[in-house]
Amino acid sequence: MALQLENRVAFITGAGRAGKGIGRAIALRLAQEGAKIAIADFVPEAADSVAKEVESMGGEALALVGSVASCEDVERMVQETVDRFARIDILINNAGITRDNLLVRMSEEDWDAVLDTNLKGAFNCTRAVAKLMMRERRGKIINISSVMGLVGNPGQANYSASKGGLIALTKTTAKELGSRGINVNAVAPGFIQTVMTDEMPEGAKQGIADQIPLRRLGTPEDVAEVVLFLASEASSYITGQVITVDGGMVM
Ligand code: NAP
Repeated sequence: MALQLENRVAFITGAGRAGKGIGRAIALRLAQEGAKIAIADFVPEAADSVAKEVESMGGEALALVGSVASCEDVERMVQETVDRFARIDILINNAGITRDNLLVRMSEEDWDAVLDTNLKGAFNCTRAVAKLMMRERRGKIINISSVMGLVGNPGQANYSASKGGLIALTKTTAKELGSRGINVNAVAPGFIQTVMTDEMPEGAKQGIADQIPLRRLGTPEDVAEVVLFLASEASSYITGQVITVDGGMVM
């Protein structure tokens, strides 16, 4: 399969979580295939540390600091990427947060924070980057959704709505940009072992693993492999799709 990404430029949001994040795993996997990586994250130290990891593998990386929820920050980070690497070929909308509570107890702030990061953040980045990709008449946009966006989850009205909205955004963007040679797809991970799931008690994690046909939680690397496929020319006739990476949990 033609997975090589030499000289491709990837802009990855929320990739700065040093250690275990899905964005970091995607950054390292794409860099391994030769992509130049722009890492957009909240925390300067986190973005820097993942950029250094990419550079230590012999790759090129740019650490960007800002919030995807801010249109101004996104426009600036996209411009900084173009100033350094001349263009953006791959956009990974990965930044995401949770603020869980039952719907009747959920505050307006928690609803807004999750929708602003997970959904508006993807809109901000897609709008800024799509303009560049349309000029090039090619591009790959990959949105990191969640199985919760497909089936819902008690205590996650805000998160599930944001991830379901991201799937609708994926399909609409795929329809709007297909004629310009731009593929837009979503990946919907199930339970992946990251800081987000580390907060759960061990017993709860084992209980979940027992319900999964493949009998284990996923790893960030499981997600990164699928993202690599969608970022490469091997997936050139796939657009508007949602690929679950969940060990068979939702089917
Ligand atoms: P994570 O470790 O918390 O990573 C998310 C990253 O996004 C963090 O580096 C975070 O920065 C950053 N971020 C948060 N808000 C941001 C903003 N406004 N602007 C820029 N960056 C921001 O989460 P993860 O588990 O790797 O998840 C990555 C994506 O996969 C998320 O979209 C998540 O919803 C999705 N997902 C995860 C799972 C799972 O089981 N882990 C399952 C399904 C889907 P801070 O470090 O400052 O918070």
